[in-house]
Amino acid sequence: MNRYSVQGLVAAIASLAILLSSCGKVTSIKESSLLMGTVVEITIQHKDPAAARKVIQEAFYEGERIENLLSIYKKESEVSMINLKAGVEEVKVSRDCLYVIEEALSYSELSDGAFDITVGPLIELWGFDRGGKKVPNKTEIKKALRLLNYKNISINREKSTVKLKKRGMKIDLGGIAKGYAVDRMAAILKNGGIKKAIVNAGGDIYALGNPAGKSGWEIGIRNPRDHEGIVDVIKVKNKAIATSGDYEKFFTKGSRRCSHIIDPRTGEPASDVMSVTVIAPNALEADALATTLFVLGKKAGDELIRQLENVEVFFFPLKLTK
Ligand code: ADP
Ligand code: MG
Repeated sequence: MNRYSVQGLVAAIASLAILLSSCGKVTSIKESSLLMGTVVEITIQHKDPAAARKVIQEAFYEGERIENLLSIYKKESEVSMINLKAGVEEVKVSRDCLYVIEEALSYSELSDGAFDITVGPLIELWGFDRGGKKVPNKTEIKKALRLLNYKNISINREKSTVKLKKRGMKIDLGGIAKGYAVDRMAAILKNGGIKKAIVNAGGDIYALGNPAGKSGWEIGIRNPRDHEGIVDVIKVKNKAIATSGDYEKFFTKGSRRCSHIIDPRTGEPASDVMSVTVIAPNALEADALATTLFVLGKKAGDELIRQLENVEVFFFPLKLTK
């Protein structure tokens, strides 16, 4: 059964009021690390703080491993290699990289190209890889759009290789890789015997188990136009949450707000909603869907959600603040 609610109000996940209860002998252990351009926080409830800290370190190592494979900001990453060899030759990649790219393609198929990791040349054109400052002209956008098409990613599963068919093509896993990294970090915690934890990579979250004395981890949903404002609190257990919004990476030009999520149909920043928050069984799905739905906007997004199971979505439409 589809489970979703789009009451036209709710929200953008906050960077988060995670309210911890410290009951009995279980202590909360919290550590953070700078990964994937964001602060990753891991909180564990456990009786043995030293053991918990050790597992957290292992999870951070895993996050770093994934970042080193998938980040376009790491020159040696597999993704950078794929981009470097675009139009030239196939590149042998790890199982992680192949998996994330295949998953990305499935969201492209699902959304008829609203989610498209070949968005790289447009991200560069708008300057979002460097903070984002300039509005490109129509000719530049048209030129970059010629390089954008997920169907020009060719994958050989047996050989574990990826090739971009055209020279100049660039993939950018910014809309999905953080979610995958969160899932991998949560898996390390789980394999390390941890039963109650929350992994939060700048709003891409996996909630493992439930905190002592509560039925789920409480996560604040933020008002996208008010840093302090929490509009709702939701409880999650063994689920992931991710938010795509126009309020963190953006620049303004006159009255126009340009966010870092590009609509592949126009080559321009998507602008139908202020934010969309997705609750899903895993963080890769929540992350990819949040980006996808941000591009599609509320109306087309609602239609897509109807095809999905075990997913809850909260749109924060633009019109609310007008
Ligand atoms: P955040 O990076 O803030 O967590 P998202 O998960 O929504 O936000 O990812 C935004 C990133 O996704 C952009 O910085 C860019 O790397 C990538 N991206 C932008 N537009 C698209 C798109 N249409 N399809 C897939 N990825 C995109
Ligand atoms: Mg995303």
